[in-house]
Amino acid sequence: MAKILILGGGFGGVVAAERLAEQLGDEHQLTLVSRSRQFIFYPALVRLAFGKCGRDDVAFDLRQSMLNRKVNFIEAEVAHINPFERIVTIAHGEIEGKLSYDYLIFALGRRLATERIPGFYEHAHHLLNVDKAIKFGKAVNALHAGRAVFGQCPDARLPVPVYESAFALARKLEEEGKRENLKITVVSPTTLQSELGDVAAATMLKKALDAHQIEFLPNLSIHLLTPELARATSGVGLNFDLLMLVPPFRGSSAASYVGITDDDGYINVDHAMRVIGHEGLYAVGDCVNFAGPKMGHMAVRQAEVAATNVAAEINGKEPASRYEHEMRFVIEGLGNDSLYLYRDLETDEPATVKQGRFWSWAKRVQQRYWEVSHS
Ligand SMILES: Cc1cc2nc3c(=O)[nH]c(=O)nc-3n(C[C@H](O)[C@H](O)[C@H](O)COP(=O)(O)OP(=O)(O)OC[C@H]3O[C@@H](n4cnc5c(N)ncnc54)[C@H](O)[C@@H]3O)c2cc1C
Repeated sequence: MAKILILGGGFGGVVAAERLAEQLGDEHQLTLVSRSRQFIFYPALVRLAFGKCGRDDVAFDLRQSMLNRKVNFIEAEVAHINPFERIVTIAHGEIEGKLSYDYLIFALGRRLATERIPGFYEHAHHLLNVDKAIKFGKAVNALHAGRAVFGQCPDARLPVPVYESAFALARKLEEEGKRENLKITVVSPTTLQSELGDVAAATMLKKALDAHQIEFLPNLSIHLLTPELARATSGVGLNFDLLMLVPPFRGSSAASYVGITDDDGYINVDHAMRVIGHEGLYAVGDCVNFAGPKMGHMAVRQAEVAATNVAAEINGKEPASRYEHEMRFVIEGLGNDSLYLYRDLETDEPATVKQGRFWSWAKRVQQRYWEVSHS
């Protein structure tokens, strides 16, 4: 019998647990640990903020869905892993415990390094959990004039919700006949082309921003916030009445200080999703050190690879499944159209870029499919 621990109840952890449950016999023990009983479908949080869906549409009960698949579920905070002794320290309230494992899949996502931007906590909205998305939505509804600023902080690595929020606000104001009352600005620490990695996609997105009179300011690295001003490292200051930023990302702190991460805290893995230098240890999702943006479909694919390889190891075979690093996303709400982009991140091949109403529909169908097949 093998003891397999999966840490994290997000895209990576859930898919890893499900695939292992499908591939392994009942004699093995599968346990998933996460700090919350809820799975959150993050790509829907912009629609939640703008009142297009409700709290129940973006979450489901993880404990029940794991139990249905014969995966034990522990609701607890993962404090630390010790890959040398194969032990994970968890805490629930006042109680601390240790779990041993034969195989571990680490899928705790990213850490929001808001402390790197003084004033972030007090003055910026963000969309990286359900409560914050709802709070941001309330602030949007209370805003009638002035300037709204949206953007990524340096090292944020998540462009989609920035553009979706800017387009959603522009469309809301257009529908209410109030568009001229508010200036909308999107800032980026780089350029559109380097965010999307493709000239054609950057041109399409810029055209859509222009069509909705959304100002775009490239190469602006926000590093300090006051109640009304976002200050960039260049010295430029932007006044705002509403500010929504994706904060800097770092790797999960539960993997710190054991020599398995790069300087930003992301776990060093190979293409089999094995943590370099440690037997029986795998990592998937936002917590690993692949370049480029951090996206849900990457976490899903990496989890499938890790689960297949863990199952192979348990069955005495070589872990032969490999992850190919590629980026695929839809930016919704450009008007009647949405933007779809696919790019292989391991070659210099140009991206596949498509625009059309279909992609917005496809994104929602994908969400529905995810809910039905995993809850
Ligand atoms: C607003 C928004 C829009 C997005 N849009 C898209 C999109 O359109 N397309 C796309 O592909 N991706 C999108 N993403 C990115 C995508 O959601 C992430 O890449 C994905 O969630 C990463 O999956 P993960 O399993 O690695 O981490 P997560 O989904 O973050 O899951 C980590 C899990 O671990 C738990 N956890 C973390 N730390 C601990 C701890 N110490 N102890 C116990 N439990 C812990 C968390 O509660 C969570 O359950 C979006 C993200 C956001 C926020």
